[in-house]
Amino acid sequence: MSLKKEYEYLIVGSGLFGSVFAHEATKRGKKCLVIDKRNHAGGNVYCENVEGINVHKYGAHIFHTNDKQIWDYVNSFVEFNRYTNSPLAFYQGKLYNLPFNMNTFYQLWGVKTPQEAKEKIQSQIEELNIQEPSNLEEQALSLIGPDIYEKLIKGYTEKQWGRSATELPAFIIKRLPVRFTYDNNYFNDKYQGIPIGGYNKLVEGLLKDIEVRLEVDYFEDREKWNALADKIIFTGKIDQYYNFQFGQLEYRSLRFDHEVHDVQNYQGNAVVNYTEREVPYTRIIEHKHFEFGTQPKTVITKEYPKEWTAEKEPYYPINDERNTEIFKKYQQLADGESNVIFGGRLAEYRYYDMHQIIGSALKKVSVHFGDE
Ligand SMILES: Cc1cc2nc3c(=O)[nH]c(=O)nc-3n(C[C@H](O)[C@H](O)[C@H](O)COP(=O)(O)OP(=O)(O)OC[C@H]3O[C@@H](n4cnc5c(N)ncnc54)[C@H](O)[C@@H]3O)c2cc1C
Repeated sequence: MSLKKEYEYLIVGSGLFGSVFAHEATKRGKKCLVIDKRNHAGGNVYCENVEGINVHKYGAHIFHTNDKQIWDYVNSFVEFNRYTNSPLAFYQGKLYNLPFNMNTFYQLWGVKTPQEAKEKIQSQIEELNIQEPSNLEEQALSLIGPDIYEKLIKGYTEKQWGRSATELPAFIIKRLPVRFTYDNNYFNDKYQGIPIGGYNKLVEGLLKDIEVRLEVDYFEDREKWNALADKIIFTGKIDQYYNFQFGQLEYRSLRFDHEVHDVQNYQGNAVVNYTEREVPYTRIIEHKHFEFGTQPKTVITKEYPKEWTAEKEPYYPINDERNTEIFKKYQQLADGESNVIFGGRLAEYRYYDMHQIIGSALKKVSVHFGDE
């Protein structure tokens, strides 16, 4: 006879996936324990309060979705503001609006009508006459022409990947959306915004009345944690779960340099991309603008793409052939588990936006609990 365990679910990782799962399981009367190796809950959406400003500690996070159900879900925990992402690009002392739209085309060429802009782009593409792009540079040139590519894409992309655009595969860029209206809204989604009071409010809402233990690494004593609960929701790295037996999955990493400035407004916008290769960072984020802050000081973050090594934070999965093959092997093992559910960006080795993570957690919950 097996003894009843203390918890029904152990949730490894308190990011959005783990928090949504824990919330939904608790709502269904299940006893949950959430553990996280960091000293705070929330995973990568966590914000740190500096000078009264919510600083997005692991990179700027802007919530956007087309899915009304997901929008209503997050708004049931915290109200969202009307922040609209409209980044700028800084190139050789000049500013350009993003995403590529009539404002950008006016700034680049002085063209004022959509017809003029289309003709300009088309003539640039035709002049190059690239038939079969063999690398990212040729691909981008064949889609958008040299002016936009050189000023707004090349340096930024090369910094992001740490390699020259001619060494990068063409498939990385499939489309380069252009908009022939004067519209600087980065996203096409119906809903977007930032939680009023920051993302921690969302996570606190999800984890309300749920036991959370911080600074606890599952791998330091996995037998002990396994013994505590009937089922495990695992949102950490899947290769680590299987002791790297098929090899390590690779990532790109980032370094964030946060700076406090004694000015009320540093750059007048939340996001400014630096598209020259010579400037070592890719973006400067000024966090207060996400929440229309009026604090006397400001906090900015310079974002530097970095090679990933095992001790650095894994940010972006590298879904190339090698890693995809390795991941498939781990996934096969995971599919055979009856008491462990794998979910989230690290366990699924996939880049997910927040709304997608929430959608995927809600889906797994409903399949698991047989709601459908
Ligand atoms: C730089 C950057 C910018 C982004 N910007 C946006 C954006 O603007 N809009 C958007 O929608 N999405 C954005 N995202 C995506 C967003 O961060 C993710 O969708 C979301 O945070 C993923 O949640 P998760 O629960 O899967 O993972 P995570 O948030 O990474 O949570 C996993 C948790 O598990 C814990 N953990 C891991 N291993 C262990 C272990 N062994 N023991 C205990 N705990 C463990 C970790 O400490 C972590 O807290 C961005 C991502 C990055 C990297």
